[in-house]
Amino acid sequence: MSKSADEQHRLKGRCLCGGVKYEVRGPLRSVVNCHCGQCRRTHGHYSAYTAAARDDLVLHDDRTLSWYESSAIARRGFCGRCGASLFWDAHDQPTISIAAGTLDQPTGLETSAHIFVEHLPDYYTLDDNLEKWPHGLPG
Ligand SMILES: [Zn+2]
Ligand SMILES: [Zn+2]
Repeated sequence: MSKSADEQHRLKGRCLCGGVKYEVRGPLRSVVNCHCGQCRRTHGHYSAYTAAARDDLVLHDDRTLSWYESSAIARRGFCGRCGASLFWDAHDQPTISIAAGTLDQPTGLETSAHIFVEHLPDYYTLDDNLEKWPHGLPG
């Protein structure tokens, strides 16, 4: 494994105030932008999530980490002090979604798709060539 690939598999991240610090000890999925109404409300705009195996996510500091049951299928992890939105954690999946903007740079990641474009709000348009899915990722 090359040095850069190894570094990509040990990315670190944190919230704005540093009350939540984490490390990902495994591969990360490409970034997917979610345009659903829930992401819009909690991020203030659309979200950009990568994902990792839950077992690969190590919390080095979770002093200010809070969880909000945002739907019947998932909870969202956020910082109770600075308000950063960090995680989307589906109850029945082995992976956890991680807000890409909370990762330290450089991430080495690329954005691959838009999801829930059926819920696109009226104040922006998508004019790139990335995959677009009306709801979630297929499969
Ligand atoms: Zn914080
Ligand atoms: Zn969403």
